[in-house]
Amino acid sequence: MTQELLMSSTETRGKPGVRRYAMVIDVRRCIGCMACQVACKAEYDVPLGVFRTWVPYRVTGKYPTVKKQFLPRLCNHCDDPPCVRACPVGATYKLEDGGFVLQHYDRCIGCKACMASCPYNARFMLPEHRTYTDITKVVDKCTFCYHRVIQGLVPACVQTCVGRSRIFGDLNDPNSEVSQLVAKHATQVLRPEQGTKPHVFYIGADRNLTDYGRAVYKRDEQADIERAVFNRNKHI
Ligand code: SF4
Ligand code: SF4
Repeated sequence: MTQELLMSSTETRGKPGVRRYAMVIDVRRCIGCMACQVACKAEYDVPLGVFRTWVPYRVTGKYPTVKKQFLPRLCNHCDDPPCVRACPVGATYKLEDGGFVLQHYDRCIGCKACMASCPYNARFMLPEHRTYTDITKVVDKCTFCYHRVIQGLVPACVQTCVGRSRIFGDLNDPNSEVSQLVAKHATQVLRPEQGTKPHVFYIGADRNLTDYGRAVYKRDEQADIERAVFNRNKHI
């Protein structure tokens, strides 16, 4: 899995001989426990106030028949990713085998062009301080847990999902669970009109409710909450 694609229009879905990883998220099974979000934070030492994956929700209906609709979000590892085209220094690239959209931290100049071009707000700037690494002030995002997948593991969020809402696998393999789920169910992707060909497929998502994302968080408020929880538990 080494060949980088700088031309993002090269599609990897349905291409013989290469893997094309995808995630299926069955929102009917998501209970909003945020275990995926916590596992991701732990896996990557994600700093306070920013997220590689996040689980926004909307409350629908009228009291007393209200319900929360959760919509787990992450980078869609698009087959035609505008973030790759936008990057002026080749720091963002796509791997042909696997279809991962990844980031060379050492090349990134922090210009945020990729952030501006991503229709899903899937990228963020790493703040100054991290606990375990000195990578800082570069753009980051979900990697589909590339380092785990090449070892035969599933992404941390998939591993930890208590409701098996998140399923991961090779869409180019007709026998994989993701292929079978996509074949069997009506699926939705976010903002199909953008032509990015996302590889995160939702089952049971309400199209009228899918167009929301980081804006549901007030970043400062979120960071305050995380800080309070961290301080409360730091001596455990
Ligand atoms: S979701 Fe955004 S960051 Fe991820 S591949 Fe697509 S355009 Fe790039
Ligand atoms: S912020 Fe980094 S990865 Fe994004 S476009 Fe600029 S150089 Fe490329």
